[in-house]
Amino acid sequence: MSTLSPAVACHGITKSFDRTPALADINFAVAPGEKVALLGASGAGKSTLLNILAGLVAADSGSLQLLGQDPTRLRRKERAQLVGIIQQRLNLVGPLRAQHNIQAGLLGHWGFIASLAALTLPMEVPAARTIAEEIGLSEKLSQRTFTLSGGEQQRVAAARVLLQNPAILLADEPVASLDINTAEVVLGMLTREENQTVLMSLHNPAHALAYATRIIGLREGKLAFDLPSDEVTQLLLEQLYDSAPHL
Ligand code: ADP
Repeated sequence: MSTLSPAVACHGITKSFDRTPALADINFAVAPGEKVALLGASGAGKSTLLNILAGLVAADSGSLQLLGQDPTRLRRKERAQLVGIIQQRLNLVGPLRAQHNIQAGLLGHWGFIASLAALTLPMEVPAARTIAEEIGLSEKLSQRTFTLSGGEQQRVAAARVLLQNPAILLADEPVASLDINTAEVVLGMLTREENQTVLMSLHNPAHALAYATRIIGLREGKLAFDLPSDEVTQLLLEQLYDSAPHL
């Protein structure tokens, strides 16, 4: 893993679904430690881009390197250290207790036997409890995940990726189901590690301006702008959504 390489380097990434373009010729590089927000109207391609970066969706063409490496060639453990994602569909295991879904963030770091034990035995990882307390879930740890509210489940998914602590943290609308105060807590937690690279799609432009150092605007599958947050104007945001967002 070279520290001189960009954390994320996308060249000519293109993706269509049933011949309908979702992403067209996406090029950008992100330096290690940058905090990047993806903004754009619904259907602009934000989830598709994050899922390609996470290796969950294959691009039709183009190349992707994460910290100088081709992520598709890495072993499970190396990938888990390199990249983690909070998906929009949170991918939690409903019947498991919240604590075990959070601790699943460590599965990539553990061997197969330890992973199995962690999901079946009542084992507690102290770091998971610390994160759960900070994110406001300490009362919910022993509750089965499907019984939690949408916002609580979203915090379980955030806690899981924070425990995983990947070099590149991806988050697809990580605060969409949260109230204003909880959203601020979670965004603060997701963006506080100076050396961690973060790319997150956000619904609310005010969150992007407050928590990201750089904003990439996507419009109909293309890059509309790619600017430091303090250079993103109200006009650019209006053009991105075709009408004025509420800041
Ligand atoms: P956003 O996250 O900005 O709302 P998406 O990346 O989810 O946008 O979607 C971009 C486009 O790709 C949309 O037109 C969407 O309908 C389409 N799309 C995304 N995923 C799929 C899929 N699995 N199958 C078919 N079309 C898809």
